[in-house]
Amino acid sequence: KNLRIGDFPGRWGGDEFVVCLEDFGDAGNAAAAAQKLLLVLSEKYEIGNSEVYATPSIGIAIYPDSGAAADRLIKAADLAMYQAKASGRGRYQFFADAMQEEAQTRHALEWALRRGVERGEFRLAYQPQICLRTGVILGVEALLRWEHPARGLLTPHYFIQGLEEFGLINEVGGWVIHTACEQVRRWHEMDFEPMRIGVNVSAQQLEDPMLIDKIRSALTDTNLSPEFLELELTESSLMADPAQAGALLREIRDVGVRIAIDDFGTGYSSLTYLHDFPLNALKIDRNFVQSVEANERGGPIANMIVGLGKNLGLDVIAEGVETQGQLEYLRHQGCDVAQGYYYARPESPENLTPWLASNQRVSETNVRFIPSASRDDETGT
Ligand code: C2E
Ligand code: CA
Ligand code: CA
Repeated sequence: KNLRIGDFPGRWGGDEFVVCLEDFGDAGNAAAAAQKLLLVLSEKYEIGNSEVYATPSIGIAIYPDSGAAADRLIKAADLAMYQAKASGRGRYQFFADAMQEEAQTRHALEWALRRGVERGEFRLAYQPQICLRTGVILGVEALLRWEHPARGLLTPHYFIQGLEEFGLINEVGGWVIHTACEQVRRWHEMDFEPMRIGVNVSAQQLEDPMLIDKIRSALTDTNLSPEFLELELTESSLMADPAQAGALLREIRDVGVRIAIDDFGTGYSSLTYLHDFPLNALKIDRNFVQSVEANERGGPIANMIVGLGKNLGLDVIAEGVETQGQLEYLRHQGCDVAQGYYYARPESPENLTPWLASNQRVSETNVRFIPSASRDDETGT
């Protein structure tokens, strides 16, 4: 009822509709028409006894700038519509050429990641975690790397989001848990102090109904005792649905696996839930650690996290420690464990094994370790 004669709406498929406007003058009029449509479509619908609201999004493509052929034009409108959706519902968005390029880049990434999963191009790097009181290596964190056939070793910044968006994170995450357990088990068999293995688990993995089974079978397959595995979960992934997260955490705890909150302080934690969750450790994000000395916000926040951790009976692990000053500060505050470039970069197992061997028994006065030999293979350019 709100369209002019000559504007013909048609169902494109699913919940998508196409409206063609002819001779609408300039782009401003198209925007006005879109705005009007959004208003009308957002009105409440009564179905039976219930009220239903739709949250429409509109993409606008203009002939011939956005596409000279009908299929190109509709594809452009479609891309713009997804952009509108992504920037919040109930909006319209004009097509821009950049969207086309972005879509192509995403396709290329998706294709490369799928091939990477198929061909087993993922690796784990391991970074030691050191007890600040005794200098003992308490554990290592497993950090994912992608050995891209053309671009070399890439850090998660380049691909984690892609793995999540393309639905590959559960498969790769399962591989990470298994491989990390296998590797630490190998180190246990050498003559080292038995170390823990920290594994990052993303929000999507928490929704994987097979997660607990994957953890259990990784432990049985590798014959690793559960207390050596520590899952690192970010506070935002737990706080998205704290009740459900709590149930899952209790299941994990029942398996005997440890739980750490990663990037603590960067999200929003309800202190009530924090108290109720079966946790073992808090990890101070490196953003705070790197400003502890300079009298910036990092100092007070790190102190607060250490204090909170102590009071809740949790270990506190500082990540991203790069300088002696940061280390001394954290030690003075009572932080238990540190990891960072000051000690060692994340390394391949081949590089880390000799490092572990030569740093097994360090005294408190001798916690400075041999810097890693291969520094630049981590940058992932
Ligand atoms: P994160 O869990 O906060 O890991 C710490 C990051 O800080 C790592 O980056 C590590 O290489 C880096 N780092 C360690 N020490 C220092 C230091 O002294 N200085 C500086 N500047 N950086 C340091 P990385 O390896 O690039 O990983 C980035 C993020 O990717 C991780 O942040 C984690 O959230 C995610 N990630 C890594 N591996 C996995 C994985 O297997 N699964 C999932 N879901 N996420 C992962
Ligand atoms: Ca982590
Ligand atoms: Ca972090």
